[in-house]
Amino acid sequence: MLVLLRSPLAAADRDRLTGLARELRLQPRFLGSEERILELVAGETGAPDPSARSRFEQLTCVASVLDGSDVPERHARHGQPDRRVEIAGRSVGAGHFLLIGGPCAVESEPRLAEIARSVAASGAGLLRGGAYKPRTSPYSFQGLGHPGLAALAAVREKSGLGIVTEVLDPRDVEAVVEAADMLQVGSRNMDNFALLREVGRANRPVLLKRGLGSTVREFLLAAEYVLAEGNEQLVLCERGVRGFDKVTRNLLDVGAIAYLKRATHLPVIADPSHAAGRADLVLPLAKAAVAAGADGLIVEVHPNPAEVHSDGSQAVSLEDFAALAAAALGYARLEGKTSLDPESPTAPRETTPSTLEGQEREKALHRR
Ligand code: PEP
Ligand code: MN
Repeated sequence: MLVLLRSPLAAADRDRLTGLARELRLQPRFLGSEERILELVAGETGAPDPSARSRFEQLTCVASVLDGSDVPERHARHGQPDRRVEIAGRSVGAGHFLLIGGPCAVESEPRLAEIARSVAASGAGLLRGGAYKPRTSPYSFQGLGHPGLAALAAVREKSGLGIVTEVLDPRDVEAVVEAADMLQVGSRNMDNFALLREVGRANRPVLLKRGLGSTVREFLLAAEYVLAEGNEQLVLCERGVRGFDKVTRNLLDVGAIAYLKRATHLPVIADPSHAAGRADLVLPLAKAAVAAGADGLIVEVHPNPAEVHSDGSQAVSLEDFAALAAAALGYARLEGKTSLDPESPTAPRETTPSTLEGQEREKALHRR
């Protein structure tokens, strides 16, 4: 809590302020040398007294009191137009649709290169693949680690496709930044605040996935950690939350996608693969997400699902990814979005939207 004081501050006022702080078990500290702002920090034990704010407001030396609820949140739309985030020459948000495809985990450089070629030809703008994998069991395949990053960097070099890969540990952020164009914070780490702060300080766009048991508000506050560190190149990803039914791995929260598109100006994409947990349901969930307003999709793809090291049952084949890409880009166009990035060497061939379509899209964006 911050208390803004009237100046000059008399010695008696100072005593009153520190006395009240002590009574309410708050640590007082003046910020700056002018004694205009008093910071009050709650002690480590006991809940803060709910009357604290009004008790300070009643003192004549107090001009106003600010607490967490007064700080303008950076994720909130506040009438701002959609933000466009650029990753390796491709854009997402503000009318730009981005398709991301690739394996769950990096398995080998040749296999990754084969997948990269195919998903790029289908219209993907970025390649996904984990070098570090967050597995429920410590005995499951944990990813290749550093050799996986080297494979990602090599394939990026050869294919020209930008890379998105997950970082699990704040100590690995520097190494992952070297190999990747976008840092993924996975569902299990959505509330790893040390990691959120570290990627917030990194000079790379961030893909933040919603925690599997997190509310939308908690998701937005996790985003706030990244934004508060100064990294505004942030994309949110709805990947399904844990439900009570096992027919799908998770419940794709389509309502959350629609809500987020209103509540925040940040781009919102969806991961139908981890939501479905089965390859045959990835396409319908992808369509639902785009219809709800998603600015992009991240999809797990593998040429031979039987050989996959992790998440094999949800990997779509290269051919099925091509079909999904065509459908998703068609749906995105209906929503007034384009996947065309003229500056990108790997941009899929697509008819340029006419000026009229462009104008309609602009109007639609401003109506939101
Ligand atoms: C992944 O993208 O492979 C992944 C582990 O996703 P999530 O964090 O959403 O489970
Ligand atoms: Mn996966």
